[in-house]
Amino acid sequence: MNLILLGPPGAGKGTQAKILEQAHGFKQLSTGDMLRAAREAGTEIGLKAKAIMDRGDLVSDDVVLAIVAERLKKPDVAKGVVFDGFPRTPAQAESLDKMLKASGSKLDAVIEMKVNDEALVKRITGRYTCAKCGAGYHDEFAKPNKVGICDKCGGNEFTRRPDDNEKTVRDRLQVYNKQTAPLVEYYRGQGNLHVIDGMADIGQVTAAMEAVLAQLKA
Ligand code: ADP
Ligand code: AMP
Repeated sequence: MNLILLGPPGAGKGTQAKILEQAHGFKQLSTGDMLRAAREAGTEIGLKAKAIMDRGDLVSDDVVLAIVAERLKKPDVAKGVVFDGFPRTPAQAESLDKMLKASGSKLDAVIEMKVNDEALVKRITGRYTCAKCGAGYHDEFAKPNKVGICDKCGGNEFTRRPDDNEKTVRDRLQVYNKQTAPLVEYYRGQGNLHVIDGMADIGQVTAAMEAVLAQLKA
């Protein structure tokens, strides 16, 4: 099954994509994570993307589409993909439709996660990640069981993204509203759109996702 989690920065896409990956064997495909990996590796693409990402703008469609096309060639996507943070523009959405069609696959659902702006700012400014395994946490809403120790891998080093500050988050929200929000109507037109309340707590959001999946299987 191929799903898109559509929502502004901080909506909970990555959190839910990881849960769906564990529960169903889908692969989380986060273009943000892939671009950050390219930065870490110091590739040409990564270096070019750095300044754009730090100010909260979108990396060009060409670059992002090339990364996704390459990723979709790997065999581990056979059970399905949860797209997280992709597509972000109408051109990316149209190209994804074509890529899936060309590989004899299709999109099964787009789940729009609705969260209000002030909650998004709170979520993003409190977000941090285990440096070793990438598990996500929040200062207030998703603390590890033991302070300073990752629940998943026992790691004790954590990182915060340079773009997870209030100023950049507000810029990223504007970019989302202008460039990505039009995808809601695009997918509604395709009959693929499911809207869920992303303001609920993490477990309730997962339950709403599972209800969509059950509906698709029925
Ligand atoms: P996105 O991938 O959409 O940018 P994340 O999944 O990284 O968002 O979530 C942003 C932050 O909010 C993380 O620190 C995460 O732990 C926290 N979070 C995610 N879902 C919820 C929720 N339903 N309620 C409260 N906090 C949440
Ligand atoms: P994210 O991890 O999804 O919050 O993305 C972090 C940053 O990576 C964004 O602010 C963009 O600069 C860039 N990015 C991630 N995905 C895309 C995409 N699909 N299209 C363009 N830029 C992207």
